[in-house]
Amino acid sequence: MKFNIPENIPEKSKNELVKLLEGNRNFVNLTPTAKNMSLDTLRKYAFHQEPYACVLSCSDSRVIPEIIFDCGIGELFVIRVAGITVGDNVTESIEYAVKKLHVPLLILLGHDDCGVMKYAKEHYPEPVEDFKSIISAVYPVLELHEDIKCHNFFAMKHTLWVEEVLLKKSNIIRTAVSKNELYIAKCHFDHSTGLVDLI
Ligand SMILES: [Zn+2]
Repeated sequence: MKFNIPENIPEKSKNELVKLLEGNRNFVNLTPTAKNMSLDTLRKYAFHQEPYACVLSCSDSRVIPEIIFDCGIGELFVIRVAGITVGDNVTESIEYAVKKLHVPLLILLGHDDCGVMKYAKEHYPEPVEDFKSIISAVYPVLELHEDIKCHNFFAMKHTLWVEEVLLKKSNIIRTAVSKNELYIAKCHFDHSTGLVDLI
């Protein structure tokens, strides 16, 4: 299937995922189509919102979900945090998107050349003085895969780990997934090509 999307995911989630991956190809091909970036659009959503996907992305200045997925105002509920590391605030932000906004799709968006992965690789397994909560969120991946050499491969493994953490920590997310109301897509953004692909 196009984009290698698994066959057995909920129809609504699949449709939104295809739309976003096609939007990414628009970005890559320099043919963006998003037009809903005007004040008129903002006014339309002045008192409500209805995003169709939640994106957990890195704070990295090069990873901007609305641009790389060719989206405008009101489409994506975005949480950006260094290294897509999951603390309580991040978990609850996703839970809000799932429970209150009923998004059928959560995209976990890791990326190449992530500073968090580099910093963690440099210091593992020593305790760090700075960035403690961020680094402690990624060290478990290195404990599981001590032989990892490549930062980008590390980032992909971390993205997969984030799904496990969310499913373990969050009753809301776990329930939505088990009821086929939510699909969690693990994705990776490659700076050199601009492509987002499923892991
Ligand atoms: Zn990053």
